[in-house]
Amino acid sequence: MENRPTFLANVDKMIDEAIEAVKIDQNISKILKTCRSVLQVKFPVRIKGKTEIFYGWRAVHSTHRLPAKGGLRYSINVNQEEVEALASLMTFKCAVADIPFGGAKGGLLINPKKYDEESLEKITKKFARELIRRGFLSPSRDVPAPDMGTSQREMGWILDAYKSLKPDDINHMACVTGKPIQHGGIKGRLEATGRGVHQALKEFFRHKKEIYKTNLKGNLNNQKIVIQGFGNVGLNTSKALYDDGARIVAIGEKNGLIINEKGINIHKLIKYKNENNSILNFENAKTIKDSSKIIEIPCDILIPAALENVINTSNVNKVNAKLICEAANGPITYNANKILNDKKITIIPDIYANAGGVAVSYFEWIRNISHIRMGRLNKRYEEHRGQSIVEAINKISSKKLPKNLVDQLVYGANEEDIIASGLEDTMRMALQEILELKNKYKLTNYRVSAYSVALKKIEKSYLELGI
Ligand code: NAD
Repeated sequence: MENRPTFLANVDKMIDEAIEAVKIDQNISKILKTCRSVLQVKFPVRIKGKTEIFYGWRAVHSTHRLPAKGGLRYSINVNQEEVEALASLMTFKCAVADIPFGGAKGGLLINPKKYDEESLEKITKKFARELIRRGFLSPSRDVPAPDMGTSQREMGWILDAYKSLKPDDINHMACVTGKPIQHGGIKGRLEATGRGVHQALKEFFRHKKEIYKTNLKGNLNNQKIVIQGFGNVGLNTSKALYDDGARIVAIGEKNGLIINEKGINIHKLIKYKNENNSILNFENAKTIKDSSKIIEIPCDILIPAALENVINTSNVNKVNAKLICEAANGPITYNANKILNDKKITIIPDIYANAGGVAVSYFEWIRNISHIRMGRLNKRYEEHRGQSIVEAINKISSKKLPKNLVDQLVYGANEEDIIASGLEDTMRMALQEILELKNKYKLTNYRVSAYSVALKKIEKSYLELGI
């Protein structure tokens, strides 16, 4: 393993490269390499008659836009530096995707698998209360979301803790995103990051010149795809790609990987994992117990969707892909990134590729503070308008419109349709901006270009508001 700089140092170096490439104001660059505030809490929880002390962090990297936004991670590897690095990534991710939030991230040092549901609820609510009391959790200042080791369930508990401490806050539902639908969550949030990764790849494949430079041939469905991770992001990326006709030949998890050159049936695999709590020994697929081998499988597109630093100097030369799409945060170390760039392996960077989650979180937050379901006001209006168009066409034409066209015209968009459309638009527009800047400054890779897009927007915001 490389004698590697920390995750935070990796992120800072990537920012430095972009600062140099597009000549950002020196004062702004100083600000952007500093986390505005970091809270560390150590709190006791009584579990089954025994008191345990838990360590948690919440880092707010930038407040040029409010609230700050970022996931809460439950893991035994969480530490302050990691949380700060992830908070910094969130600032840039929001800017790239044109989401008016600052960047934040939180973590709790815990192995969630060690505790039953009742204990986890107790721990989560206590952690939430610690954050709320210190101003690190509220609809207007700092809004968490799920990340590794957390899900809708934890977000629901956090909402309940906030509501009980702040019953007069009419916007209480917006204190957290990625929560259960019946408590103000939004359809499509759970799947959003994975669907966004799919949209990122779809948009990339619309740019033929870029495909040519990447040495890929054909369209997205002609590619051999390998995915590391089959948790929230990996599973939903696989599902969105598979449903669109893509061929996923290998999937890896912590305990091993499976390969089927003909393509893995993702729906069957999801069912299999639900029943067996593992993807190993899935039908018609070869199982390999060494999970690290997933990085080395020859493919066209490699999608790391598990955790950070998985491609580093110890294995980067074994990567056998033409394109890497970073669904996880920080899966490639700075030094490995340089080697991949030298080898002309294209990388679609995390701050763009996995921004779908925070984009839909933004829509959820808007829904919560506006207190109305999206589409509620205009769905029927659209349907009536469509019906009028159908009647008008039928009146002036001797032919009748076919039923499928009539159905399309008289369909009014519901919340899920609006969210899907907003997600697609976010991912398409962001890549177009990244490409435009890449060409304008003759940048050699997408990561520098994505950071540069973000830096330019944040620089403008700081210079207009004052430092
Ligand atoms: P998760 O906990 O749901 O899933 C993690 C997956 O990684 C699991 O399949 C696990 O088996 C696998 N994994 C863990 N260690 C591994 C190893 N050593 N080798 C191979 N596989 C391993 O987490 P998630 O929410 O899917 O998040 C995955 C990544 O995506 C993280 O980097 C996270 O920060 C990032 N991300 C998540 C979201 C979101 O909305 N959940 C949004 C943006 C970015």
